[in-house]
Amino acid sequence: MLTTQKILLLPGDGIGTEIMEQAKLILQWFAHNKKLQFDLEEGLIGGAAIDKTGVPLPKATIQKAKEAGIVLMGSVGGPKWDDVDFNIRPEAGLLEIRKSMGLFANLRPAIVFDELADASTLKKDIVSGLDIMFVRELTGGIYFGEPSGIEELPDGTKKGVNTLVYTTNEITRIAELAFELARKRKQKVCSIDKANVLIATRLWREEVIKAQKKYPEIELSHMYVDNAAMQLVRNPKQFDVIVTTNMFGDILSDCAAMLTGSLGMLPSASLGEKDNVTGMRMALYEPVHGSAPDIAGKGIANPLAMILSLAMMLRYSFDLEQEADMIENAVKNVLADGLRTADIMQTDKKQVTTSEMGHAIIKKLEGM
Ligand code: NAD
Repeated sequence: MLTTQKILLLPGDGIGTEIMEQAKLILQWFAHNKKLQFDLEEGLIGGAAIDKTGVPLPKATIQKAKEAGIVLMGSVGGPKWDDVDFNIRPEAGLLEIRKSMGLFANLRPAIVFDELADASTLKKDIVSGLDIMFVRELTGGIYFGEPSGIEELPDGTKKGVNTLVYTTNEITRIAELAFELARKRKQKVCSIDKANVLIATRLWREEVIKAQKKYPEIELSHMYVDNAAMQLVRNPKQFDVIVTTNMFGDILSDCAAMLTGSLGMLPSASLGEKDNVTGMRMALYEPVHGSAPDIAGKGIANPLAMILSLAMMLRYSFDLEQEADMIENAVKNVLADGLRTADIMQTDKKQVTTSEMGHAIIKKLEGM
């Protein structure tokens, strides 16, 4: 990486600030030891932003996010803001930043580290070695289709309506992204739809097939969503990259995430369109979990989902494959050494705090 890369850090609320601290130390370690140039800025989002500015996503944060293009976020929300107006609740800041940055694809890897395979509710041999990349369409489909609403009928009863809409462009851009990701993995994409019942997802299937023509090396398969739900718990290791619609992705990605059994270990990325000039995509990286108000301030949160989100950022936004591998291997190695935060604690292992875990990762990086 030759140029200085701007990154906007949004710690947010609750454990967000604690886990961001560890990610920052790792970024600084890479800057110092691997001569990478990061220009780190900080901004406000969520409850922290409401307290200081009255809104969950101040204009200044949007501007900084667009300028940097790359955002690393902690988490937002907490009981302190339970009573604020619905439109300015902390979580509204999250939805708004995704919208302002045009993030249309949500990537959620479901990886089972061998050392934590016992944490899954499924049998160890079913999940051990699992590595799925879930790609969910984020801005279209039934969650945003019009008409939508509840209307009163002449007989006094009501009708609720949502509309499932997808266009060629919406399908092609997410399919291409899935194929590009598969190129860096096992070259397999499974597209999930309900083409036997929902006509809009028949179009989904047709357009995914067309998009694949540019990626002849990628093996494409299709699965109906009901079967996919079964296959995810029956034989999840058959999948490499899964691409699907907004609603199917919402449901199935939570199911895939829980195959791993540990919320504190799950990173995610949301990506936008490629810039024609720079070739970069706007992107926001964040752990899947929330602000964990029940443990906030105690210094015991698991920082690994955040740290793995940072690894995704290095891999997908900056093409720093080697550095991303270093972080992921450091995580594997500290787990192999028996270090655990409270949420993933097992008998005979050593319980560590948030900052002890962060420092253990840095020590591993130093030894590589
Ligand atoms: P949560 O993910 O914050 O917590 C669920 C449980 O998992 C809690 O017991 C928590 O202690 C534990 N947990 C989560 N992350 C952990 C970590 N890194 N280390 C150790 N334990 C961890 O979900 P919740 O309790 O339903 O929500 C709390 C708040 O977070 C709410 O305000 C919610 O709206 C918000 N939230 C935000 C995001 C986000 O910022 N992307 C996502 C989900 C929930």
